[in-house]
Amino acid sequence: MKFLCVGAGFSCAVIARELAQSGHKVTVIDQRSHTAGNCHTERDKETNVMVHIYGPHIFHTNNETVWNYLQKFGEFMPYTNRVKAVSGGQVYSLPVNLHTINQFYGKTFSPKEAKAWITEQSDQSITEPQTFEEQAMKFVGKDLYQAFFKGYTAKQWGVSPTKLPASILKRLPVRFNYDDNYFAHKYQGMPKNGYTEIVDNILNHENITVQLNTPFDETMLSEYDHVFWSAPLDAWFKHQFGKLGYRTLDFEAFTDEGDFQGNAVINYCDEAVPYTRITEHKYFASWEQHEKTVCYKEFSRSCEDGDIPYYPIRLAEDQALLSQYENLANQAKGVSFVGRLGTYRYLDMDVTIAEALKTAQGVLDDLANNQAIQPFYFA
Ligand SMILES: Cc1cc2nc3c(=O)[nH]c(=O)nc-3n(C[C@H](O)[C@H](O)[C@H](O)COP(=O)(O)OP(=O)(O)OC[C@H]3O[C@@H](n4cnc5c(N)ncnc54)[C@H](O)[C@@H]3O)c2cc1C
Repeated sequence: MKFLCVGAGFSCAVIARELAQSGHKVTVIDQRSHTAGNCHTERDKETNVMVHIYGPHIFHTNNETVWNYLQKFGEFMPYTNRVKAVSGGQVYSLPVNLHTINQFYGKTFSPKEAKAWITEQSDQSITEPQTFEEQAMKFVGKDLYQAFFKGYTAKQWGVSPTKLPASILKRLPVRFNYDDNYFAHKYQGMPKNGYTEIVDNILNHENITVQLNTPFDETMLSEYDHVFWSAPLDAWFKHQFGKLGYRTLDFEAFTDEGDFQGNAVINYCDEAVPYTRITEHKYFASWEQHEKTVCYKEFSRSCEDGDIPYYPIRLAEDQALLSQYENLANQAKGVSFVGRLGTYRYLDMDVTIAEALKTAQGVLDDLANNQAIQPFYFA
């Protein structure tokens, strides 16, 4: 068959590869001038540092199949994400752990003592937290909530944590040990030559044609048997019910001699500081040496027309709109919706790749059984 994949990020690259290996012809288009979607990396001309152009991306997963799959397309170097936080003029360790608690309260608590202390600080009068703020107050109490969660969350989402659902903060966001590894996954790493090389290697197959600087156009449809759509779900339906809400990011890039902050990522928790974090990209590649450094100051704001959609908001209003689009999508013919934009969900790279593999397998199974290709293949 002849397939069109809209978007050259991980979703469509993996689907294209799996279908191409089964003998199908696949054209992958992207409106951007590069592959790899939001995971795109490229070397900064001035410093030669590998920069994560659309924000810091750390690969982490418990999914062995996905980890092994990626190893076929590029070399991963060991990397452990250790984030620092600036709050009230001090630097702390994140996620909030025993070191953070001891430093914040000026104590030398053991894990048991810290647990008892945090329970004492937490607001036990809240039995059924409805909002992010209530959930945080119930888990960690006022002090830690205000120092590490309140301002950062308000800046990130553009609304007060009193307006966000409690479900955003699912688990106790505190560790009672000195583990400051941000991700608790079995596999974590950074591609030696960046993510774009990996995506290019995935796309490098005789049955795949890649066309960059090519926005989707309906006139393309007549040439293909089926479309995989990793562009925004509502865009396929011409935004007929209105636009799904996103947060966008602005990156203020700057260079410096030597080191700027001594760590890959530092979060700024105070609401008075307009940015959410600063990323120093060379710290993602400890195996490289650079005399200069390049950093991104990251600002979060509401996504307007012409902005890049980053984080789906998924508050009540968007959920209602999403249901309308999902109803249409479930009846759509000739198209499957994939990836973070195509399904309007925040997806880490490993989940994206796992779902893309599942989608491709689902399609191949349906074809083998003379079944129609479905609009969605994720659970
Ligand atoms: C700021 C940020 C940080 C992140 N950090 C991490 C992290 O640390 N670890 C992690 O695992 N994941 C992270 N992610 C998630 C990661 O970016 C996604 O998992 C991944 O990008 C999803 O791939 P995708 O192919 O679904 O979408 P995308 O990478 O967004 O690709 C979609 C592509 O479709 C193209 N497109 C859109 N519309 C059209 C059109 N009309 N015509 C042609 N092309 C079109 C776009 O140009 C884009 O290239 C982060 C995400 C963000 C926003």
